Amino acid sequence: MKVIMGTDIEGVAGVVSFTDQAYPDGRYYDAAKKLLTAEINAAADGLLDAGATEIMVFDGHGPGAVYFEDLHPEVKLIHGRPTSPLYVRDRFVKDFDVCVMIGQHAMAGIQTSNMNHTQSSRTIDYYKLNGKLIGETAQFALYHGDFDIPLIFLSGEADACDEAEALIPEITTACVKQGLSRGSAISISAQKSRALIREKIAAALQKHKKDPIPPLKWEAPYVLEKRFFHTHEADAAESMVGYERIDSQTVQFKGDNIREVIYR
Ligand SMILES: [Zn+2]
Repeated sequence: MKVIMGTDIEGVAGVVSFTDQAYPDGRYYDAAKKLLTAEINAAADGLLDAGATEIMVFDGHGPGAVYFEDLHPEVKLIHGRPTSPLYVRDRFVKDFDVCVMIGQHAMAGIQTSNMNHTQSSRTIDYYKLNGKLIGETAQFALYHGDFDIPLIFLSGEADACDEAEALIPEITTACVKQGLSRGSAISISAQKSRALIREKIAAALQKHKKDPIPPLKWEAPYVLEKRFFHTHEADAAESMVGYERIDSQTVQFKGDNIREVIYR
């Protein structure tokens, strides 16, 4: 079993503030990276316990959030921004068997979700695909679903777990933080979060081996609607090829290939 692990920092236990912990000039950014990396390592241990043969981590946080020196010896890391064009990266991921997400947060606009956002915490009001609000979990699952790679596990904030279960009822989740508001949360301890992730991700892989979870696929054609907080952000998007302006703050992008649409 070859596993792709998408990671983010905003759904990690102990990470609660964009300014202090998720932005690269934050005073506790390095400490937050260490918290994420320990959760990644716990997940890798769990996957190896359950028979994973290869683990590729994709550092999904914009400025990069993996503390490389601490990273588990058995994983490889895809990192760096700007990312390669996805078709370049895809040669290295399309033959994997399953994917998982660690440190995930809920989509923008979920009131109780700590650090809720979709892609950009500073510019995006929402993403909709074919009229349905989506967050980064749906983006990741649909992208990999197109390669027949199912999302079988997600750890992170409580609303992110609910979001994943609504999308993929068979998924296993591990909640390590309960959001109270965008800026506050109740985290379980670092030690407990790592133990929980290790145990639940191993169970998820075992369960998938016995009773495979289908990859997430939605029917084409696709219309991706992207609403910004400000008009100048929509101005910039409208000037890029393929976007159509819908209103002062919103653009849309249409296509039949989910991988070409979902990360616009
Ligand atoms: Zn992030």
